[in-house]
Amino acid sequence: MRNVFVLSACAAALMLAAGSKPDEAVAANTAKAANVDSKRLMAADQNAGQWMSQGRDYKEQRFSPLTKINDKNVGQLGLAWFGDFDTRRGQESTPLVIDGVLYVTTAWSKVYAYDAKTGKELWKFDPKVPGEWGVNACCDVVNRGVAAWNGKLYLGTLDGRLIAIDAATGKQKWSTQTTPKDKPYSITGAPRVANGKVFMGQAGSEFEQRGFMAAYNAETGKQLWKWWIVPGDPAKGFEQPELAMAARTWKGDFWKTGGGGSPWDGIVYDPTTNYVIFGSGNGAPWPQSIRSPGSIEGNDNLFLSSVIALNAETGRYVWHYQMTPNESWDFDATQQISIADLDINGEKRHVAMQANKNGEFYMLDAKTGKFLSANGFVPNINWNTGFDPVTGKPKINPESIYTEEKGFVVIPASGGAHSWHPMSFNPITGLVYIPTTYGNYALVATREDDNPMGQKLSISMRKGQAMNAPRINASYLLAWDPVKGKEAWRAPFETGRGGGTMTTAGNLVFQGNSKEFAAYRADTGEKLWSMPTQTGVVAGAVAYEVDGEQYVAVSAGSRLGGLGGNYYSPNGSRILAFKLGGTAKLPDPAPPVPQVLNPPDQFGTPEMLTKGADAYNRFCGTCHGTDGQSRGMFPDLRYSAALGSSEVFHSIVLDGALSANGMVSFKKALTPEQADTIRAYMVSRAIDLKKNPPPTLGAAAGNRGAAAPATGAPAASAPAVPTQQPESPH
Ligand code: CA
Repeated sequence: MRNVFVLSACAAALMLAAGSKPDEAVAANTAKAANVDSKRLMAADQNAGQWMSQGRDYKEQRFSPLTKINDKNVGQLGLAWFGDFDTRRGQESTPLVIDGVLYVTTAWSKVYAYDAKTGKELWKFDPKVPGEWGVNACCDVVNRGVAAWNGKLYLGTLDGRLIAIDAATGKQKWSTQTTPKDKPYSITGAPRVANGKVFMGQAGSEFEQRGFMAAYNAETGKQLWKWWIVPGDPAKGFEQPELAMAARTWKGDFWKTGGGGSPWDGIVYDPTTNYVIFGSGNGAPWPQSIRSPGSIEGNDNLFLSSVIALNAETGRYVWHYQMTPNESWDFDATQQISIADLDINGEKRHVAMQANKNGEFYMLDAKTGKFLSANGFVPNINWNTGFDPVTGKPKINPESIYTEEKGFVVIPASGGAHSWHPMSFNPITGLVYIPTTYGNYALVATREDDNPMGQKLSISMRKGQAMNAPRINASYLLAWDPVKGKEAWRAPFETGRGGGTMTTAGNLVFQGNSKEFAAYRADTGEKLWSMPTQTGVVAGAVAYEVDGEQYVAVSAGSRLGGLGGNYYSPNGSRILAFKLGGTAKLPDPAPPVPQVLNPPDQFGTPEMLTKGADAYNRFCGTCHGTDGQSRGMFPDLRYSAALGSSEVFHSIVLDGALSANGMVSFKKALTPEQADTIRAYMVSRAIDLKKNPPPTLGAAAGNRGAAAPATGAPAASAPAVPTQQPESPH
């Protein structure tokens, strides 16, 4: 505590001494940690050296007014310091930097505080999320950051707690369980805070779940209001008046599957209107033909995949706009919402902007929710055939409503043309920088995933794969003119995916990708600088100033372990901070863990293997890969030593021997006989791999500068059979 106090006081004194105008007005009050209030947040433009909330200010534009690092000198950018995290899972957190202290969250909902100038670790907070809760997260045990208010930080944990932490000491002040513990809810997003209220949603629409938004007292954790996104069982009455209206847009026994709609990421508080504006998630389960069967008409399924404005004080409904009626394609509307005041056709408009998963870039009037425009920021969008020019309601392509009998290859893919990866808006260039993916995905409905645990998508990955649709899969940084509704420029990557973006008044855009962190000219897209990061960078960066010197910081560590990486690759999850002339060096990456492919002799009848393939793909494939071919942050079971012993295999699969790592017991879902069929099937897959090793066996992870051993993992780019796996569906 003393260290933080002294540091903050010193930082304030130095800022005063340097005559650092932007912070002068508030410097006298910065003697306590996370000293954030309405006044300071409202004056974020004058507090240029701070990054006090997720999107830096209440507009959530992720635009820094700092200019000391700029398009003329960014080539001199070097590593100032780094801090290692104690987990190698995915890192999606945007740090906050307040009065010289950097606060960042990691996978498993942990929080680290660092001296933002030196990188000295000040404290660490671990909410001790039970490892077995990992099974309730669709897309890794990630966390996207904290909110700060009046000396406290607010953290949503994977198991649904909202925790207030003393920003000076890292000690817990209060904890509120925000979600029912008997349902597979999780929290991966960052809370937002305004006027003494903390706004928090939750994730889980890939499970049987019903989403809601709620506000909590920032001092006590007491829930102040709660707003349900989809209606429950009409026979039980509705919790709020709008749900009666929403229920008329659903068919069948829709409440039995929960309905979905979880608001798991984008939330913005708009002080101009005093509205909290947020996006809701996809339908649960995915296909409308199963969730709410019937014709397209009258089947919008409100308030799925919508942007919704509530009165921040009362939680009462103000307006909504539904981006994707008849939602069936995992088109959450949870992406970042940025507020801006723009000149549109000679008129000044206060707008809310979103680059939606469904491929359309939306502008809504932030006061009324009125539809202003939607323009495709990826080509060949095929789920709609246009928009009603007056209401802005999309016309759903009837072909796109897939069933158990008839599949559909949707563009963009279910992973989204843009998902949670932060976008940024630069008011100087007038451009939005979108981490963009142009892809497609084959969807076929199924009722066969009546799985008592884990995800319930009600889509058949195997039948989707059997449609043999040629894959489209491109990722690039897109600069988008929101007023003209068209592309300004794009910067492709060699390969892999792009992470979140951040833009500055120095005419720069920062973005990580599968192997590096890079800076581009904001006006033209010219690549000016990059540094290899030994892993993928998917999180959004921040810019801040300490003692008159500008820094840029970003969390590194991707779920896929970087380019071509997998569970066995090194994945240096850490916070990286850069400055001009920085000379810090990352240690050499650890070599990949050697993989020994040593399957036992085949056992079991052909029938048993078929049953094993079905059970595997239903219960295990989401994490461990379709057909046992892991590409992600989970072990490839073909290499598992447990294949040689029924007893060991049962101890893990049924008794939960590895539950602390997230490998929960599947006793509720699988009989011992089914577990044996899975083991037999995995043995067959391991024997197949041994007989037919892919040509690149042993060459994985070569881009990291570490030679892979002869038994290295097969590179993800050379799979033995074509697979269709959404990389990060959320
Ligand atoms: Ca989703």
